[in-house]
Amino acid sequence: MSVNVLFSARPALWPVYEPLLTQYLDEAGLDVQLGTEFEPDQVDYVVYAPNGGVQDFRPFTRLKAVLSLWAGVEKIVGNETLTVPLARMVDHGLTQGMIEWVVGHVLRYHLGMDRHITVQDGVWTPDVPPLAQERNVCVLGLGALGEAVARALTALEFQVSGWSRTAKDIPGVTCLHDAEGLRQALSHAEIVVLLLPDTPTTENALNAETLALLPKGARIINPGRGPLIDDDALLDALNTGQVGHATLDVFRVEPLPADHAYWAHPNVTVTPHIASETRPVTAAQVICENIRRGEAGEPFVHLVDRTLGY
Ligand code: NDP
Repeated sequence: MSVNVLFSARPALWPVYEPLLTQYLDEAGLDVQLGTEFEPDQVDYVVYAPNGGVQDFRPFTRLKAVLSLWAGVEKIVGNETLTVPLARMVDHGLTQGMIEWVVGHVLRYHLGMDRHITVQDGVWTPDVPPLAQERNVCVLGLGALGEAVARALTALEFQVSGWSRTAKDIPGVTCLHDAEGLRQALSHAEIVVLLLPDTPTTENALNAETLALLPKGARIINPGRGPLIDDDALLDALNTGQVGHATLDVFRVEPLPADHAYWAHPNVTVTPHIASETRPVTAAQVICENIRRGEAGEPFVHLVDRTLGY
């Protein structure tokens, strides 16, 4: 009996992934049928994205695992019809893209680039920016993406502090955890990067109280998820100058409605959920490795803890 893998993601991705998955599964010596249509009770693995259409896993009676193409799993983690292991995406290309996007936006703030790019008013103001070693950047979330971003910022010699649920030891990064750690991290943060997952315990991580801990004029960069920020509190903080500027890539409602206050706010940059994405060449290898593991009876990698929600 062959192993059947249902690809359930945006249809446009199938022609991209099909040859890559075929190649890697062949190289692994696996006899696998790949497709976008199977009888549910014939499916061993679902390669999953929320826009693929599968919501009810009950008919998938021989399913061994769901392999998410997305790093963030908030749309599936609470699905009670799913009773088999759920693996999320940790992908080198996705990580590299996030490093580049975050570093770019941190440097924009650090170097005050807008002053010279968007304002050409004939006024000669030779204010030299400080060195990175004089700038504190705080990364909330030190997982696959947050740790990689923190390391990249450290390599540029920024003062980096990071905050996570459990204690970490990352060279050059002041690693903090728990509520007191968050207070400590935010109280020095000139630039805050959010790379937490969207879970009940991270919702509104930045709220009126935590935003008030920041040094006045701090900048926020959110490529994590919209619900990490209390939007009204952020708008208030922007209007008082407590937050100097925010670059937001993710929102509670996407696409961000055209009449949302963020679009018009002079101190907000909206980007349309493009910080990074799963890159097929590398991601297909991760998917195939988990199918190989499943067939060899080995533990899956990048498993989601359904209790924690990430
Ligand atoms: P991980 O699961 O690897 O890391 C999550 C991090 O958040 C971990 O360090 C974890 O702590 C920490 N964390 C979770 N809950 C809490 C909490 N209650 N308090 C403090 N820290 C907490 O995720 P990734 O790094 O792979 O991805 C992070 C998020 O980035 C994704 O969930 C997704 O939402 C977003 N993303 C956005 C993209 C975009 O284009 N905008 C693209 C890809 C991802 P610990 O390590 O102790 O468990």
